[in-house]
Amino acid sequence: MVETADVVVVGGGCIGASIALHLAQNQAGKVVLLEQKELANGASGKGIGIIRTHYTHPVLAELAYLSQQRFHNFKQLFGGYESGFDPCGYYVLVGNADVATLKAVVQMHQSMKINVDLIDLAEVQARVPHLNLDDVAAAAYEPFSGYGSPPQTTLAFAQRAVDLGVEVLTQTPVQDIELDAVGIHGVVTSKGAIATRTVVDCVGPWARKLTQSLGLDFPVNPVVEHVVVVERPLEFSHHPVVSDLVNLCYSRSDPHQPYTRIGNSDPKYHSQFMLQDADDFHGQIYPQITEELQQKLIQRYPVLEKAKVVDQYSGIWGVTPDYQPIIDYLKHIPGLYCAVGFSGHGYKLSPIIGELMSQFILGDRSVMDKLKIFRFSRFQEDDLVKSPITYGKAKGLR
Ligand SMILES: Cc1cc2nc3c(=O)[nH]c(=O)nc-3n(C[C@H](O)[C@H](O)[C@H](O)COP(=O)(O)OP(=O)(O)OC[C@H]3O[C@@H](n4cnc5c(N)ncnc54)[C@H](O)[C@@H]3O)c2cc1C
Repeated sequence: MVETADVVVVGGGCIGASIALHLAQNQAGKVVLLEQKELANGASGKGIGIIRTHYTHPVLAELAYLSQQRFHNFKQLFGGYESGFDPCGYYVLVGNADVATLKAVVQMHQSMKINVDLIDLAEVQARVPHLNLDDVAAAAYEPFSGYGSPPQTTLAFAQRAVDLGVEVLTQTPVQDIELDAVGIHGVVTSKGAIATRTVVDCVGPWARKLTQSLGLDFPVNPVVEHVVVVERPLEFSHHPVVSDLVNLCYSRSDPHQPYTRIGNSDPKYHSQFMLQDADDFHGQIYPQITEELQQKLIQRYPVLEKAKVVDQYSGIWGVTPDYQPIIDYLKHIPGLYCAVGFSGHGYKLSPIIGELMSQFILGDRSVMDKLKIFRFSRFQEDDLVKSPITYGKAKGLR
């Protein structure tokens, strides 16, 4: 193991791996990525992987749009490695109460050159005949969106980072961050110490724990998030991604098997499934939500009524009070950067966050002009991220 590094990135999820890779691409010197277990051990190992631009906040929409472009060119940008991206198209479905919001979001996105349009429900039905649209009042379609594989993408970032000279150490938890009169002095790991002046905290749902000893309390709560996987009948082939804002869930096909995955976007469950500590997560499943998800899937695709449940599992994600990440330089701990608390957006944003964070760490302070809504101090300033337009029930998840 190295004894000194120019930058130590802590956390081997898609965010940490992307930042480490982009630092290497930008010649940041000796970069080390430290992961307590295996790469994609946290949220990045379990995410459904939807890549879309549909956000009510223009900054999130822009970041998602920039990331989407990078997913389309992933192989060329990242040394021939693949992310598993399938641009199979993405529909947003809304009920009567949300039609005005959907129209306003689409208009905003079109003014930003995002490829999206409202789509007639008869056209949606013709393209996806198994969809039940009885309770849907309007829809929008993003032809360039779809889904990818978060674990595959994380490994791709990390592998490319290794090719470019990054030392990636798994089974190496950071136990302490040491300070001296100047600021950060190094990290202590289970395998020894590494002297460094720059640490990037990318530990996702573990954010509270990592910096507790520094008196830095990140408002990032670990929340258990569920996925149900069903096997489609033969007559129902690969289908696009659907964000169902009527039933507050989202679904997508699998690439190589006739499976459909469904996840929850109802914020009412987040406080119920919140853990004290990310280490309390052991893959626990709350049956009330998995049963509900299955019913929601059947309601949207009645053809799945008798579909076999082939898997159900859970992951944890790090949720902040406004469902938006904390991306910042912690001035009172010189040398400490953070990119944590990505809630349900971290996968799709990972390519652009890696790029922007690496530029920021290497001295381009103008990056924060774009990212300042995600600053840490917003919680003390009571200036949480708020969208100019909001959906009735989906709240900050959009
Ligand atoms: C079920 C589910 C569905 C999702 N669906 C989507 C989706 O459709 N689209 C989307 O964009 N996002 C989705 N997400 C969210 C997305 O997966 C996360 O936002 C993203 O993976 C966060 O990545 P991360 O790198 O910040 O955190 P993580 O992937 O959690 O990585 C943090 C890493 O830090 C490591 N770590 C912690 N403490 C230490 C330490 N002391 N030393 C060393 N390493 C440490 C952990 O082991 C972990 O590997 C979903 C998440 C889940 C769980």
